[in-house]
Amino acid sequence: MQTLTVSLADRSYPIHIGSGLLGQAEHILPHLKRKQVAIVSNTTVAPLYMQTIAQPLRDAGVAVIEIVLPDGEAHKNHQTLQIIYDHLLQNRCERNTTLIALGGGVIGDLTGYAAATYLRGVPFIQVPTTLLSQVDSSVGGKTGINHPLGKNMIGAFYQPKLVLADIDTLTTLPQRELSAGVAEVVKYGLIRDADFFDWLETNMSALMHLDAAVTSYAIYRSCENKAEVVAADEHEQGERALLNLGHTFGHAIENAMGYGVWLHGEAVATGTVMAADLSQRMGWLNAAEVARIKAILQAAKLPIDAPDLGADEYLRLMQLDKKVADGRIRLILQQSIGKAVITADYDAEKLRQTLSLAA
Ligand code: NAD
Ligand code: MG
Repeated sequence: MQTLTVSLADRSYPIHIGSGLLGQAEHILPHLKRKQVAIVSNTTVAPLYMQTIAQPLRDAGVAVIEIVLPDGEAHKNHQTLQIIYDHLLQNRCERNTTLIALGGGVIGDLTGYAAATYLRGVPFIQVPTTLLSQVDSSVGGKTGINHPLGKNMIGAFYQPKLVLADIDTLTTLPQRELSAGVAEVVKYGLIRDADFFDWLETNMSALMHLDAAVTSYAIYRSCENKAEVVAADEHEQGERALLNLGHTFGHAIENAMGYGVWLHGEAVATGTVMAADLSQRMGWLNAAEVARIKAILQAAKLPIDAPDLGADEYLRLMQLDKKVADGRIRLILQQSIGKAVITADYDAEKLRQTLSLAA
């Protein structure tokens, strides 16, 4: 097992990464203020892993409430949140009851927001079971739900007490979901960690086959990068925005194709290629670097060709992004592999060329 710490003064917390962690109650027990937990999961993950984590806790004398929600992004909403509150109140859960999120990013975001708001805040633990949630959503304290008028529009910054990333859970993950997580792993290399990018080029095949040492290291290094960014900029005033590389283009694709048709990580991968293309047009990346970016994403079985929506439609969709300031779209672009910047200082005509998929 490897451990790293997210440094946020009195809200600092450990991330444990390794194999077999789900069945080891000793990682969780020291963080419980009271021997009562509510484990929140969904109908896909609970049959696979609920008892693996619940039984050792019960054996250690912990009262365990199981809350099993419907699966899917469509359920990351107010109604599902209400189901969590109902269970907590019916079971008389108190300030010292710990919520445990067992699942992917949807369960993590929902459970974290429930923990932030139930009784004005109860402790919570993240047990992410997708690669995306292990390298991204479980770290950093963003929690929340969707609103019919927008994704992730309701939420809170709320840090967990512990993140437990058990790599064994990834063996049951569908390959497309694994690839979607790898898109975010590659992102860390691209925005701030050239050595990691090099390492990923060498180890991508082993990662896709879930080699234990390679997978653990990829998660560790990703979390380390995210933890550093979050420690420096918890509330996204500056550097944290770099984590959105490929996302402004990607959100436009997700939106245009209908949510759920492209997985988020697939749209991000394609958006990353679009950002690289514009960076090349700006003279910041050379052709060889763009080729490396495409090759690593293809090795992760991710799409790299953007759908042809037309530049006007892309621009309209990108205007909806949260990073728009004073009507000008700010983009995360590459200055080299391992160095990204957030900028509104690009050539608008070159952006149109990228969006037109011009050669
Ligand atoms: P997800 O939670 O929907 O999980 C993907 C699918 O895999 C689901 O069907 C899930 O039930 C299933 N699954 C989960 N673990 C499994 C396992 N071990 N074996 C088999 N199936 C398993 O999607 P995700 O990609 O994990 O997370 C996406 C969500 O995360 C989005 O809602 C996004 O907004 C959010 N997110 C949040 C942050 C943040 O900082 N809070 C960051 C990135 C993404
Ligand atoms: Mg993302």
